[in-house]
Amino acid sequence: MRLVLVGPPGAGKGTQAAVLSTELDVPHISSGDLFRANIDGETPLGQQAKSYIDAGELVPDEVTNEMVRQRLAEADAQRGFLLDGFPRTTPQAEVLAGILAENGMELTAVLQFEVPEEELVKRLLERGRADDTEEIIRRRLAVYRSETEPLLEYYRDKLVTIDAVGSVEEITGRALDALRARI
Ligand code: AMP
Repeated sequence: MRLVLVGPPGAGKGTQAAVLSTELDVPHISSGDLFRANIDGETPLGQQAKSYIDAGELVPDEVTNEMVRQRLAEADAQRGFLLDGFPRTTPQAEVLAGILAENGMELTAVLQFEVPEEELVKRLLERGRADDTEEIIRRRLAVYRSETEPLLEYYRDKLVTIDAVGSVEEITGRALDALRARI
């Protein structure tokens, strides 16, 4: 199973990705987690990414695409993956399609998380990560709308949409049901 999760910041993608990765037995690959690990480890990539992340802006594609390309080349990703936070732009989606095509593969499905905006802001303020201040949250939501939402059209043939308001267990159940109906 090669799966991409799409949804606005605060939609619960990371939480669901962790559960679904166990259920589906594929690695959870989060571009945000990869960036944060690089920032914590004070690597050159982390230094390049930090100012963008702190501002709620997207890290430039050449940095992001290369990081994800390397992660997807690792042994555990060969049986499938669950990508969380990547792609976030149509050019990134084209790069991903190219990486998969090099290996004669394509995505199985794209799982979209739908959550009303008031609920997103509430959840993010409760989470309290370093980039979860109200101003930066607003910026990330605006970036989602302008840069990432066009992906829904790009992926229309692979899109599986679920209502992502409810308990963690309810949402996992909806995701698994929707994916099973699709594959
Ligand atoms: P996330 O953990 O997915 O909320 O990502 C946190 C931050 O990392 C984002 O606000 C961006 O600054 C950066 N980031 C994560 N994934 C990407 C991506 N695919 N493209 C560009 N920037 C990204």
